[in-house]
Amino acid sequence: MVNSLSPEVRRVVVLGTGGTIAGKAASSGDNIGYTAGQVGVADLLGGIDAPTGVALVAEQVAQLDSKDMSFDTWQKLAQRCAHWLAQADVAGIVITHGTDTLEETTFFLHSVLSATKPVVLTCAMRPATALAPDGPQNVRDAISVASTPGARGVMAVCAGTIHGGLDIQKTHTYRLDAFASGDAGPLGYVEEGEVRLVRAWPEAAASQVSKIFDAAAVQWPRVEIVMSHAGASGAVVEALVQAKGVDPLRGLVLAATGNGTVHHALEEAALKAQADGIAIVRATRCVNGRILPKAGDQFRDAGALTPVKARIALMLELLG
Ligand code: ASP
Repeated sequence: MVNSLSPEVRRVVVLGTGGTIAGKAASSGDNIGYTAGQVGVADLLGGIDAPTGVALVAEQVAQLDSKDMSFDTWQKLAQRCAHWLAQADVAGIVITHGTDTLEETTFFLHSVLSATKPVVLTCAMRPATALAPDGPQNVRDAISVASTPGARGVMAVCAGTIHGGLDIQKTHTYRLDAFASGDAGPLGYVEEGEVRLVRAWPEAAASQVSKIFDAAAVQWPRVEIVMSHAGASGAVVEALVQAKGVDPLRGLVLAATGNGTVHHALEEAALKAQADGIAIVRATRCVNGRILPKAGDQFRDAGALTPVKARIALMLELLG
């Protein structure tokens, strides 16, 4: 770490949120029986040499297992990113995060930040206590991307591969290379600290949701996901609409089959909900491809967004 800043030194800010990368297990041979979110972000940087002319700044934003990610943590994270991105000497941001909802946080930040500088999420599939943890190399690679001149946009780095915030999906439960970018393919690779870009950096999405940055607390609209499948019924939709003790349902993502098809019984209940003012969007449950709209569609579609990303997009739309 560089402590006294000369004018040429650029800062890379590393924001910690927890995850397996900060996880601890009782034995080094245990890669799955650990507790996520135990090691502080400053300690995750121990032993990592910053690239020449780069100073690392560590800040703990949250300390959780990303399966438990909350909207309030997203808001805090977005606010801290906006704060740091506005500092002239900050080259970019790295966010350490759990793998389980990494694609959701990446897409959320992609949607709300005007990231003219790089914001790079990274993670690990093995805890910090593992015999051969993957976290340190992933962090080092993410720092390389965050300090690459000209880099911009929200993305994620795992196992030497750079994925864009729009395309990234967790596709494996166990392997270290657990992410893919579907039809779009990765943005590039990190090799010995060098970025090899194979697509353009992601365009910074201009945020329409200033509330996230201005308000102390946001009233997040309740949007749920219901999957269409063989033997589906309208019962889940009806239960969601009638649920007591929670905010009223504002939106529903139908995780549809194939090119956006929905079981007729589920469709009937969703049409009724739509007529009652609930926003309905179809997203395909297929891992690759997009929904191609056609004449006679009863619900709008989310294109290539997965159901979890379509849900975030709908929440932001309802919020904005
Ligand atoms: N449950 C962990 C998390 O998402 C899994 C991981 O990080 O790999 O925080």
